[in-house]
Amino acid sequence: MLQQTTVATVGEYFRRFVERWPTVEALAAAPLDEVLSAWAGLGYYARARNLHACAKAVVERHGGLFPQDEPALRALPGIGPYTAAAIQSIAFDVPASAVDGNVERVVARLFAIETPLPDAKAEINVRAASLVPDERAGDYAQAMMDLGATVCTPRNPSCVICPLTSGCQGRQLGIAEELPRRAPKAEKPTRRGLAFVLSRRDDGAILLRKRPEKGLLGGMDEVPSTAWREGKLVPETAVAEAPVPGRWQVMEGLVRHTFTHFHLELVVARAVATTGRLGEQVPGASWCPIDRLSERALPTVMRKVIAHAVKG
Ligand code: SF4
Repeated sequence: MLQQTTVATVGEYFRRFVERWPTVEALAAAPLDEVLSAWAGLGYYARARNLHACAKAVVERHGGLFPQDEPALRALPGIGPYTAAAIQSIAFDVPASAVDGNVERVVARLFAIETPLPDAKAEINVRAASLVPDERAGDYAQAMMDLGATVCTPRNPSCVICPLTSGCQGRQLGIAEELPRRAPKAEKPTRRGLAFVLSRRDDGAILLRKRPEKGLLGGMDEVPSTAWREGKLVPETAVAEAPVPGRWQVMEGLVRHTFTHFHLELVVARAVATTGRLGEQVPGASWCPIDRLSERALPTVMRKVIAHAVKG
C-alpha cells in the first residue's frame, strides 16, 4: 500500500484491510472484487490485484509462508527487486539491499553521485549494497528508509543531526540538496472522453460496468464512457457512443484526474432510464443503488464523475 502512497493516506485502509483479512490464507480466499472494493480510493489498483494474486501463490506454492530467497520471492506476482529485498531484510533479517526512493536519495548524497536518475540507479544500487551490514539487516533497512524520510529530506536536509554527516560527500561538496539529479521528464499527454451516468428513474440507482481485467484500472467498476483519447473532444458528437439510446444531457464543467502517464479530462453526460431493463442492453453492466456505491470497487476518477453528475 505504501508504494507511491503516503502513510497518512494508507493508515485507515491498512487497518481495515488487515482486520478483514488477517492472514495470507484469508486474503487468498477472498473474492478479487471485495479486495478491489476495499482498495477503492487508494489508486494504483494493480497493487491490489497483485497482492491478491500473491497471497494465492504463497498459499498454493509455499503453504502460506513467504519464501526467504530472492528467486522464489521474485517469482511471486507484484514482487520486484525492491519488494523482495524489503521482505528479505525486514521480515527475515537477510542482508539484502532494499533501495526505495528515500534510500536512493541518501545514497546519492552520501557518495555525491551526480549522474541524473534514472541512469544513476545502477551506481546507487551498487553503493547501497556495499553498506548493508551482515547483522540486523532489517533494522538497517528501516533506519535508512526513515533517515531518508525524516532527516535526509528532498529539501532542507537536516545534516546537522544526521548520523552520516561526517562521511557525507554531498554535504562536503555543498551539493547535497541538489541530489539526486533527475533527467527532465516528458510532458504528460491529456486524454479526453465522455462519461455516461445513467440513473434508474424509480430509485436513482446508477448503471455500472466492469473494466477489463487487464490494463489501467483493471477489474474495477466504472460508468460507461467513450474511449479516452488524445485530441479534441466534441461532446455533442461523442454522445452518439452512449451505451443506450436516451435523452442524454451533456453537463457543464469537466472532471479532471491525473494518472501516472497521462492527464484525463472527462465531460459527463447523464440520462434517466425509465425502465431498468435498459441496463440489460449494456454487456456486463448492473444497477447499483446510490447508497451502496461505497461498497463497489469504484476508482477515485469514477467517484468524481458520479459526484459531478449527481450534484449537477
Ligand atoms: Fe543527507 Fe545531509 Fe545526512 Fe548527507 S549529511 S546523508 S545530505 S542528511
